[in-house]
Amino acid sequence: MDNGQIADRLDAFSALLELADANPYTVRAYRRAAETVRAAAVPVADLVANGRVRQLRGIGPSIEARLNELVHTGEIAELHELERELAPSLIGFGRYLGLSAKRSMEIARALNVRTADELRAAAAAGRLSDVPGVGPKTEAQIRDALAREGERQLPRALLLTQAQDLVDGIAAALGGDVAGDVRRWRDACERLAVVSAADDALDRFADLPQVVAVIERSERRAVGVTVEGVPVELRVAEPARFGTEMLRATGSETYVAALEPLPDGPDEAAVYAAMNVPWCPPELREQPFRGEPPQLLEVADIRGDLHTHTTWSDGRASVEEMGRAAIERGYEYIAICDHTPAVGAVQGLTADDVRRQAEEIAAANEILAPFRVLRGIECDILPDGRLDLPDDVLAELDWVQASVHGGQRMPRREMTKRVEEALRNPHVSCLSHPTGRIITRRPENAVDLDRVYELALEHGVAVEVNGLAPRLDLRGEHVREAIAAGVKIVCSTDAHSTVGLGNMTLAVHTARRGWATAANVLNTRPLADILG
Ligand SMILES: [Zn+2]
Ligand SMILES: [Zn+2]
Repeated sequence: MDNGQIADRLDAFSALLELADANPYTVRAYRRAAETVRAAAVPVADLVANGRVRQLRGIGPSIEARLNELVHTGEIAELHELERELAPSLIGFGRYLGLSAKRSMEIARALNVRTADELRAAAAAGRLSDVPGVGPKTEAQIRDALAREGERQLPRALLLTQAQDLVDGIAAALGGDVAGDVRRWRDACERLAVVSAADDALDRFADLPQVVAVIERSERRAVGVTVEGVPVELRVAEPARFGTEMLRATGSETYVAALEPLPDGPDEAAVYAAMNVPWCPPELREQPFRGEPPQLLEVADIRGDLHTHTTWSDGRASVEEMGRAAIERGYEYIAICDHTPAVGAVQGLTADDVRRQAEEIAAANEILAPFRVLRGIECDILPDGRLDLPDDVLAELDWVQASVHGGQRMPRREMTKRVEEALRNPHVSCLSHPTGRIITRRPENAVDLDRVYELALEHGVAVEVNGLAPRLDLRGEHVREAIAAGVKIVCSTDAHSTVGLGNMTLAVHTARRGWATAANVLNTRPLADILG
């Protein structure tokens, strides 16, 4: 068993434990263990065999026991029991229809159904009214949802990284290519799609562990749902039309509609050429566009990461470890930007800490030269717009990220004034995650971004594209506005570990959605330009 397979089983186990209303800590522990296993640099099966798997972070005795069972028998027995008991297929289908997992299970037990087909048949036979707790209103709602099946349901958005994991796995299993929202690097993905040229892809799709129920199937297309109730579309294309189907399945609907009718082509380049339209990077396919796209920013253009954390606040690696990891990525510099005390939830650096950290950074610079570790800070913007450290401390630093963390529900005028104050501080280099949103959980702050761009331009402050998957802030539309206003963009990872430096891909592709070129992005430049 490779790490990916082991991680998949742990993920499945945690999903089922969650459905079974297990202790949330246990659920989370398995989910984290899955992440750890997936990211491990060595074969976890070997560690299990040598009795050394507990050296991995977050693997305790009970998870070790499960891993032992999995590696030695190929199964986790309790996982099978839970699958039998819980009918994940029906839960996934129920979620897709808008039912809670609990309600789906009540229906499954009362009617003795386990699959989407059995539920459809029971509903058609009028048996839903036999279920205790399902009154005429709920019955009508379920029948209605079944009748609308296959039409666009309420959007159930996944974070980009979750959606990537899901469709990458499906595409790899079916020898297909990823299309849909993921290919356009949308921050929250609703339309998940894979295109395959393999004749047997439709049959194999239904058997994939990620697909708990197939809700639609025609000769060349199927829609399955995941245990989370998220629909995934599979299109099977003849090789001569593969490019056509990729273009169509990549979307957006608005973009494709404006190009229709699409000619046949084996790859996208051929389809675009036949239309006499230049090939368009998927990130730009939101609105109708037939022109010559700009030369967009690439990950390879990035010379350094300007927002990272270490063990001085809530990061997991030391200054030197972060520096080395940045060198491995081919960077010339990194800014260490730990938190200040007002952030609250984690330990923040006081003025004294900042000066003690300077010694560690100086030592790292001696070892890592000519690479440069910058003295930075992620300084909280207090509710009244003052910064969380005195000006004389900020003046010592090479790079100051200013961030709104607490008190985000301020009215628009106050929030805008708060940020304006910070932008006027001569030591501030960049405004972090300018809208403060957490995708699918917290809306954007009420802040007047036009005013922010105006002041940022006036005071030479850059605005961040934060690469944490739940943030991606600024998002593409805002990046485009900021660039139009003449403000410099910084693509950063907000990494809390060496692995977190990999979030640069997300930041860069989000900036690309805002039509950013390398010239628009400050950290494509040599260090002298940035400090100058
Ligand atoms: Zn922050
Ligand atoms: Zn941060």
